Amino acid sequence: CFHSSQELLAKKINDEAVGFKSPKRKKYVKKESRTQPPVDTPYVPPKKNTNIMPDRTINIFEGMTISELAKRTGQSIPFIQDILVNVGEKVGSEFDLVSIDVAELVAMEVGVNVKRLHSNEGAALEPRPPVVTVMGHVDHGKTSLLDALRQTSVAAKEAGGITQHIGAFIVDMPSGASITFLDTPGHAAFSAMRARGAAVTDIVVLVVAADDGVMPQTLEAMSHAKAANVPIVVAINKCDKPAANPERVRIQLGSEGLPLEEMGGDVQVVEVSATTKIGLDKLEEALLLQAELMDLKARVDGSAQAYVVEARLDRGRGPLVTAIVKAGTLICGQHVVVGAEWGRIRAIRDTLGKVKDKALPSMPFEIEGLRGLPMAGDDIIVVESEGRARMLSEGRKKKLDQDRLKKIDEGRIEIPDESEEKPVRVEFPIIVKADVQGTVQAVTDALITLNSPQVYVNVVHVGAGTISQHDVDLAQACGACIVGFNIRSPPSSVTQSANRANVKIKLHRVIYHLLEDLGNLIVDKAPGTMETQVAGEAQILSIFELKGRSKAKGEDMKIAGCRVIDGCVNKVATMRLLRSGEVLFEGSCKSLKREKQDVDTVAKGNECGLAINECNDFQIGDIIQCLEKVNRKPKFISSESGAVRIEC
Ligand code: GDP
Repeated sequence: CFHSSQELLAKKINDEAVGFKSPKRKKYVKKESRTQPPVDTPYVPPKKNTNIMPDRTINIFEGMTISELAKRTGQSIPFIQDILVNVGEKVGSEFDLVSIDVAELVAMEVGVNVKRLHSNEGAALEPRPPVVTVMGHVDHGKTSLLDALRQTSVAAKEAGGITQHIGAFIVDMPSGASITFLDTPGHAAFSAMRARGAAVTDIVVLVVAADDGVMPQTLEAMSHAKAANVPIVVAINKCDKPAANPERVRIQLGSEGLPLEEMGGDVQVVEVSATTKIGLDKLEEALLLQAELMDLKARVDGSAQAYVVEARLDRGRGPLVTAIVKAGTLICGQHVVVGAEWGRIRAIRDTLGKVKDKALPSMPFEIEGLRGLPMAGDDIIVVESEGRARMLSEGRKKKLDQDRLKKIDEGRIEIPDESEEKPVRVEFPIIVKADVQGTVQAVTDALITLNSPQVYVNVVHVGAGTISQHDVDLAQACGACIVGFNIRSPPSSVTQSANRANVKIKLHRVIYHLLEDLGNLIVDKAPGTMETQVAGEAQILSIFELKGRSKAKGEDMKIAGCRVIDGCVNKVATMRLLRSGEVLFEGSCKSLKREKQDVDTVAKGNECGLAINECNDFQIGDIIQCLEKVNRKPKFISSESGAVRIEC
């Protein structure tokens, strides 16, 4: 009560007079304990309480027992046995073994996530080529370097320099060794794949332009590689330029904590030029040396464990997936589950487009025969039959839907705020279209980082390919904005129809520009929060009392003779009376005059007479603050590391 304003105190007294009281706790009543099971009650499976373990992930592996599975999922053995019967498995004792696919089906039914553990126990391990990703700051030459390296690849040599873009390529060295390069430069793709558990990259090539030096995204790439525990080989690019200063780059990298070889560390540095192709051989040698140190080996026999690098839809051939086998061998004709999709492998093609009957570890290849389009980073698992493939795919789709709904619900939950103004959250629906599925995922993930307590970024539809009339119709129906990344402009008929429907289309090729553009749109759309701010301050210099006024004119009143010492005082605003920094009263302005003239505002430096409704407790030296309500919009913030967010 001590800090309460008079108005609040008055309200409290009123509430009590009306009879509002805080609810009393009910008496604790002990529940009736039952000693006998209920009779004639059909069996009801125990309720799964997903709220208790919202995002639990358990490890599963080939050949775990039913009792082990029950323990890991936190369910009873009979409950697990019931699920097993439902998925068509024979159930014997609790020590019976279940296959890894069945274990996943059970876990999905229980509502927990799984991580598949693959054992290489007893299997022969053979050396495999390294898988390399190129990262670095925008315009430092990642794409140019990949292009230059691709031209040294087998595919380019055999196809006369023309290579099919399938998301990865192999460079063969004279020694017979080879290197696999992932063809999607950029950090978003790397982190999207890593987020889905697809740790396919063995080495990161950090490209730094010799004429520009270490930049925000260079540092970001370094931290991505560090977080993924992936070694770095530095390629100082553009060394052909007169302004090139590789020494400066070395010093900068060293001071950022990268242990370079020259400084006694283990990170190799190679000077290259993607334009003149100088140093490319040295870079390839450095990568092989790094791979040798890592002693990269993989199991070749047994069923494959692979990951999707890129997926696209071909009009004639259906979904085409570029993938890399991590271990085992993928054989044409096998039934596979890829993420939430499934299919039977109709054809395997290598980077030259040659049909192969199998794919070995670290080899990029393209597969045909899937029923739907998976996403970059999805795992490819081989299953025993079409029935099992269908079942797992359906289960995974259901789980994805549940997770998506849960995410939307979580996103929609308003943060309970006890303060006077509750933030309103509006929805910003977006449709994402990009060149390939991997980019779609990366762009979607990046856009979701723009979520804020005021604007909920809802990606309502995604797809690979150009923007179609269907996208415009959907955008119109749900008031969405269409984002096109790395795709051609839509046909003019589609653009016109979007204009007519007032649907915004945003086309970009650089992720940072896209995020900035969308970030500003989001800020515009945000409702903002109403905040009280001090518009002006006046100090009381003298006090006048108006006495003996008639009843018709009103009661006696005190007028504070003030000087405005900061900002300006507005008649319509709320006034706050402060004494020695402590708030004494808050109320509306009764009168504001300058030399007997009624005025609306008084600016800094001027004197005025001010009366506050129901306040007569003025003292000389008191401060009267003029409070006004402002709508504060969120801000789009982009940090030095290239990360963006909306600050509310
Ligand atoms: P990315 O954004 O990192 O993929 O960079 P790009 O590969 O698109 O290259 C950006 C610009 O730098 C392009 O204009 C390239 O032609 C140029 N560039 C890339 N590598 C070199 C190089 O080694 N030497 C010179 N002189 N220019 C380069």
